[in-house]
Amino acid sequence: MQKKEKSFGIQMLSVQPDTKPKGCAGCNRKIKDRYLLKALDKYWHEDCLKCACCDCRLGEVGSTLYTKANLILCRRDYLRLFGVTGNCAACSKLIPAFEMVMRAKDNVYHLDCFACQLCNQRDIQSYGRDRTSKSHRRV
Ligand SMILES: [Zn+2]
Ligand SMILES: [Zn+2]
Ligand SMILES: [Zn+2]
Repeated sequence: MQKKEKSFGIQMLSVQPDTKPKGCAGCNRKIKDRYLLKALDKYWHEDCLKCACCDCRLGEVGSTLYTKANLILCRRDYLRLFGVTGNCAACSKLIPAFEMVMRAKDNVYHLDCFACQLCNQRDIQSYGRDRTSKSHRRV
């Protein structure tokens, strides 16, 4: 099974003054700063290793980056875009990580599925969907 998405470590290295400057994989210019980042077997300016989504400087955010489909992403965006929370215990379909979920014990539910379940149990289907989910919020 091929696993394309992966997290990679980011290393911050100090540049030795007597070594040849390395080329930045982001902007292709030489790195003449005192520090550079090493990630994905390439060297980067601290400014150039950025999340493709939110533009945050990955070297500052953490020591991990995520890649998928040639994008370099921070953990937050990666999970938001590609992550999966789990399977809905009601409809057993996957729940993408960016979707709001309801949790009950060890189970996760789509918001809609959770509301429906409650409705079925309590036989109060005449409620409107909005009112239903609101009225169950404390459960
Ligand atoms: Zn650069
Ligand atoms: Zn990001
Ligand atoms: Zn569901």
